[in-house]
Amino acid sequence: PAMLGILGGGQLGRMFAMAAKRMGYRVMVLDPDAQAPAAAFADVHLCAAYDDVAALAALSECAAVTTEFENVNADSMLWLAQSTRVSPSGHSVAIAQDREQEKAWIGKAGLPTAPYKVIAAADDVCADCEALFPGILKTATLGYDGKGQVRVRNQAELAQAWADLGKVRCVLEKMLDLRSEISVIVCRLNSAQMACFAPAENQHIDGILAYSIVPARLPEALQQQAQQLACRLADALDYVGVLAVEMFVVGEEMQLVVNEMAPRPHNSGHHTLDACVTSQFDQQVRLMCGLPPADTTLLSPCCMANILGDVWPAQGEPNWLAILQQQAAHLHLYGKQEARVGRKMGHFTQLATSADAAFDLAKASHAALK
Ligand code: ATP
Ligand code: MG
Ligand code: MG
Repeated sequence: PAMLGILGGGQLGRMFAMAAKRMGYRVMVLDPDAQAPAAAFADVHLCAAYDDVAALAALSECAAVTTEFENVNADSMLWLAQSTRVSPSGHSVAIAQDREQEKAWIGKAGLPTAPYKVIAAADDVCADCEALFPGILKTATLGYDGKGQVRVRNQAELAQAWADLGKVRCVLEKMLDLRSEISVIVCRLNSAQMACFAPAENQHIDGILAYSIVPARLPEALQQQAQQLACRLADALDYVGVLAVEMFVVGEEMQLVVNEMAPRPHNSGHHTLDACVTSQFDQQVRLMCGLPPADTTLLSPCCMANILGDVWPAQGEPNWLAILQQQAAHLHLYGKQEARVGRKMGHFTQLATSADAAFDLAKASHAALK
C-alpha cells in the first residue's frame, strides 16, 4: 500500500495516522520527539528535526505529504513539492503562519477582519493607533493558545507591550465586542469539489479552547453565511486540504469577522470523529491523495470538551468513569506520558438531542473528572 507522510506527530498527527491506517495506507511521521503521540500509529517514525535533510528525503518518497502543525518550515514543504504531492501548499502554510499576511489575504478575499495596524518599529506606535484602543497586540508569528498577545489601552501601554513581546513584528487589533466565537472547517480539493462542516461554537478558558458546541447556537442564515465566507477564503488561497477558519460574531448586528485560520484539521473539529458522516482526518487523507471530500453532515448535536493536564490529580488518574458512564460520550486520549498544566492530553465528545443538552452534559462530566 501507498505510504503517506506527515510533518508533525502530535495528537493531530495521531488522529490523521489512525484515519490513514484504517483506510489501508501506510504512514510515515516526522517528529523530533521519540514519544510523539503519532509514533504509536506510524509505520515509520523519522525521529529528527523538521529540516533534517535525510528525513525530508525519505518523506519525498511518499505518495503524498501533509502537515499537522502550524510552524512547519514552509520552505521544506515547497522543496518536497518538487518530488511529491504536498497539501496544503507551502504557500498557504506561509500565509497562515503570519498574521500580517493572513489579514492581507482575508481582506483580498473580500472578507472582514478586525481593524488593525502592523507594529514593526518604535515609530509605528503613534497617533494612528488611537482608533484601535482598547486593542490587542499580537506577535505576527508563532503565537498560539493566546500566547504572544497583550491587551493595551493607550500608546504608553502599547509601547510597553511591544517591548515586552521582544520588539518583533506585531499586529495591533481593535478589541471587538464578541457575542460568540465560531469556526468553520473547509475541505477543498478544487473550486468544484469543496465541502464544509457545520460551524462550531468555541468557548475558551485561559486562552485555550475548552468546549466546541456543534451546531453553533446561531441563526441558520448566519451559519450558512459563515460557511460561505470560509469557502471564499479557501478559494482565494486555491487551498487544497483541510482549512479551519476562526470567526467572531460581533455586536448586536452579529457581524461575522474572520479572526485567523489554521492550515490543517483543528481542535474545534475533533467532534467530526464521532458526530459526522466523515471526520476531518478522513478528509485530510482523501484530499492529500487527490480524492474528493466526502459527506460532512452532522449526525447529532454534540459538544467536544478538551481534557488538559490540569485535571490530573497529584497521584493516579482523572475519574474517567465520569465520561465512560455516559451512554453517548466518546473518550479520546492521546497517549502522552506527562500531564502538565495547559497541555492537551485528550478530549471527549458528548452527543445529545440538542446542542444545549450536549454542552450541559459535557460540562458536568468535565467537572467530575477531578
Ligand atoms: P489559537 O490557539 O486559536 O491559535 P491565538 O493565540 O492564535 O489562538 P487568537 O485566536 O488570535 O490567538 O486570539 C485568542 C483569543 O483572544 C480569541 O479566541 C478571542 O477570544 C480573543 N481575541 C482575539 N482577538 C480579539 C479581538 N480583536 N477582539 C476581541 N477578542 C479577541
Ligand atoms: Mg492562532
Ligand atoms: Mg485562535
